[in-house]
Amino acid sequence: MPTAFLNFIDGRPVESREMAQDINPSNTADVVGEFARASRKDLDDAIAAARQAFPKWSKTTPQERFDVLDRAGTEILARKDELGRQLAREQGKPVVDGTMEAVRAGMIFKFFAGEAVRMTGDRVDSTRPGVDVEVTREPLGVIAAITPWNFPLAIAAWKLAPALAFGNTVVFKPAELVPWSPWAIADIVQRAGLPPGVLNLVMGPGSVIGPALASSTDVDAVTFTGSQDVGPSVAAAAVAAGSRVQLEMGGKNPLVVLDDADLATAVGIAVNGAFFQAGQRCTASSRLIVTEGIHDRFVDAMVERMKKLVIDDALKPGIDIGPCVDGKQLEKNLSYVEIASREGGRLVAGGGRLTRETDGFYMEPALFTETTADMRINKEEVFGPVASVMRVKNYDEALAVANATPYGLSAGIATTSLKYARDFKRNSSSGLVMVNLPTAGIDYHVPFGGRKKSSYGPREQGSYARDFYTVIKTAYTS
Ligand code: NAD
Repeated sequence: MPTAFLNFIDGRPVESREMAQDINPSNTADVVGEFARASRKDLDDAIAAARQAFPKWSKTTPQERFDVLDRAGTEILARKDELGRQLAREQGKPVVDGTMEAVRAGMIFKFFAGEAVRMTGDRVDSTRPGVDVEVTREPLGVIAAITPWNFPLAIAAWKLAPALAFGNTVVFKPAELVPWSPWAIADIVQRAGLPPGVLNLVMGPGSVIGPALASSTDVDAVTFTGSQDVGPSVAAAAVAAGSRVQLEMGGKNPLVVLDDADLATAVGIAVNGAFFQAGQRCTASSRLIVTEGIHDRFVDAMVERMKKLVIDDALKPGIDIGPCVDGKQLEKNLSYVEIASREGGRLVAGGGRLTRETDGFYMEPALFTETTADMRINKEEVFGPVASVMRVKNYDEALAVANATPYGLSAGIATTSLKYARDFKRNSSSGLVMVNLPTAGIDYHVPFGGRKKSSYGPREQGSYARDFYTVIKTAYTS
């Protein structure tokens, strides 16, 4: 019998009538565990518990909140190997990436422990004599946190840690597909010393629990990371309920490769950004925009490098890429290989399903050339290891093509020219810009987020996170 993992509400584990299986995508015979599926009543209980716990938790001292978050960070870091391995097992990313994600999650808790005690306000001179003005930040209330399956440790951390650090209570709804990692984060934070009701976990179907949570008038703010398909409906529901809302969604991220780029650097960051973690990163570089002087050399070097990629069971040491997260994602990726071929793209590497020792969702990364900006492959997020090359004349055309997308999450450039690097940083329409670095891969202490259709509302992470998780008060004293 697989182990059963329950929701917890008001500090207690809660049995569910329905359970869902968490399957290892590298080996579908391996069941990671059985996970509770919350009912509407569970959700209502969770929101009520968070509401009830708020007055007391919001009045705790920064030191008390520091202690809880710091203990949680310490436990996450101490268990990084176990957390990383379990993440690899249930999601399919290589163990080394899983472990790095666990470290990131631990560091985020440590960072926001510090933010709790670093909270400041302003004392401002009044325009009137004899009056003092103070601007202070206060906890917002009950936060609904809705997260995706691709970074289940890190994204849980970058929402729960600031919410709790600034004195809010939380109802946490992770994606059903990869539930162990968010369950483990919630369990660690709970045991680090949270009073009952401060953090409530409701694992359950997104289509049922998600809209009910986003539209609840008993919630004060909704922080959502996920797809462009779902995000706008979450925002509409939250606004109708009078809640503050923040969305981080998908991307169609460009990597520009200029004639003067160091070829090995360009290929390294393109392969990493486009294909690692099976392309299942919101910051993946799926559009490779290459100037004509380096185009053929770049494509040849990409194809050579791709032949050497090791694609296998996520738990095996030394692999580069694991499986796709599930059969649905694999089918979607393969369908985009077909779509791109039909549209006139030339498949120069990969693109097929792979078989390995165990039954899993393996795919060889696909590279297309001769693609144009109007093709679906260059407009729609695949969320798989599929990248397309667009040939351009020069830097100006590259920049224009890079920006010609409704998305705006991450954009990269490979160049040895300071002039072009500087211009790209200034004129890219993305929230993140990478020079000679993969479009994916971020620090934990600075803001993260996109522009245009990739993002809505204030930034996440770093000290900027406080803008979402606190509410401002202006007080006048005579
Ligand atoms: P998704 O939109 O399908 O689901 C995200 C979360 O929303 C899950 O918890 C899901 O259960 C829930 N949900 C589903 N339907 C809902 C509804 N109607 N109302 C409310 N909640 C609902 O996304 P996913 O497949 O889990 O994740 C992949 C997507 O996430 C990709 O598009 C990727 O680009 C994006 N992503 C963005 C970032 C970022 O920070 N920009 C980071 C990681 C992933």
